[in-house]
Amino acid sequence: MFSNHVGKQLSAYCHDELEARVSQRVAEHLLGCRSCRAEFEQIKAGMKLAGLLPLVAAPDSLWCELERKLDHEVSLPQQPSQPPARFRARLFHPVPVAIAAALVLALGVAGFWVYRQESRPSWEVARLVGSPVIGSSRIGQKGQLGVGQWLETDAESRARISVASIGQVEIDPNTRVRLLETRATEHRLELARGRMSAHIWAPPRLFFVDTPSAVAADLGCAYTLEVDDAGASLLRVTAGWVALQLRDRESIVPAGAACATRPGIGPGTPYFEDAAPDFRRALTKLDFEAATERSDHSAVLKQLLALSRERDTLTLWHLLYRTENNDRILVYERLAELAPPPPGVTRDGVLQLDETQLRLWKGHLDNIWTGSSPLKKGWINLWTRTLGKVKGLEEKK
Ligand SMILES: [Zn+2]
Repeated sequence: MFSNHVGKQLSAYCHDELEARVSQRVAEHLLGCRSCRAEFEQIKAGMKLAGLLPLVAAPDSLWCELERKLDHEVSLPQQPSQPPARFRARLFHPVPVAIAAALVLALGVAGFWVYRQESRPSWEVARLVGSPVIGSSRIGQKGQLGVGQWLETDAESRARISVASIGQVEIDPNTRVRLLETRATEHRLELARGRMSAHIWAPPRLFFVDTPSAVAADLGCAYTLEVDDAGASLLRVTAGWVALQLRDRESIVPAGAACATRPGIGPGTPYFEDAAPDFRRALTKLDFEAATERSDHSAVLKQLLALSRERDTLTLWHLLYRTENNDRILVYERLAELAPPPPGVTRDGVLQLDETQLRLWKGHLDNIWTGSSPLKKGWINLWTRTLGKVKGLEEKK
């Protein structure tokens, strides 16, 4: 299933130039393929860099030359029916053509710069209750949140942000968020404190939320994210998928699951919210109580594995990457017991964290985690996206 990489389509995908069906396929491939995701990040970085290129003024000599040529041509005798052969020859001479091209380019760049200056990116904020504040001023019914500005709610207020054309974010009381970036390839908020709920219908990995202990990357979804005063956060996903990242540590969280993060450690291991309370307590110990003795660590892991159900393979699959030696063998054995690996996935391959084999197994586990067949998933995605588009159109009216 991962033989058809999508590298060739990524540039068009980034520019939203693909047919909806193809774009959907690319988005789904990106969810599961680390190598295409790496390529996607590179393309986005390239587009970002291109956006930062400085404007370079045309040299004076070029303008002088252009004026001189124009003066010269204007003084030529006029023949309305057909320009003289000499004029035609001059018109298509490489030097005037290059000058004209430079002029058109300079005008285009200048026009684009004026357009950029006039349409400074900002998001619309609607007051839901109380008096939300942008910067230092209270907003009325509506306000604009510019790049770099903070939006803050007190104990009595709530607000709703329209995230460009890709979704909505509701801001609960006692919350502080800042707009870090909004451009075609990346929309980014910072959640410093409090709680927000996001509904995003853009292609995956365009909407990000920075928290003090991890970055939440949207994979086409709805979720709530909250950050406490110590900088620890909790992500709860209600539709689709969200990835939580800090450096090389990544947790992929589907609907119905949650994931905690801690400053200095990053994302913990995701778990389904209906898992046994003792299972969740054991997981918190494994994830965040680093001081636990080695022997205790193994005992806690054994307890967690004994309590795991078929759906908890979500947690176990992530634990393969986060355990070593004998502990990893224990995780593999329980995982294989709950959801036997498909053909092509071997015990040795998994224990050595063979990327291809792990992806293949994850493809099968996905169906358990989302409780659906690939066909049903396709229909749900199509439905979510259609709903998003209809919603977007309604708002434009
Ligand atoms: Zn790929």
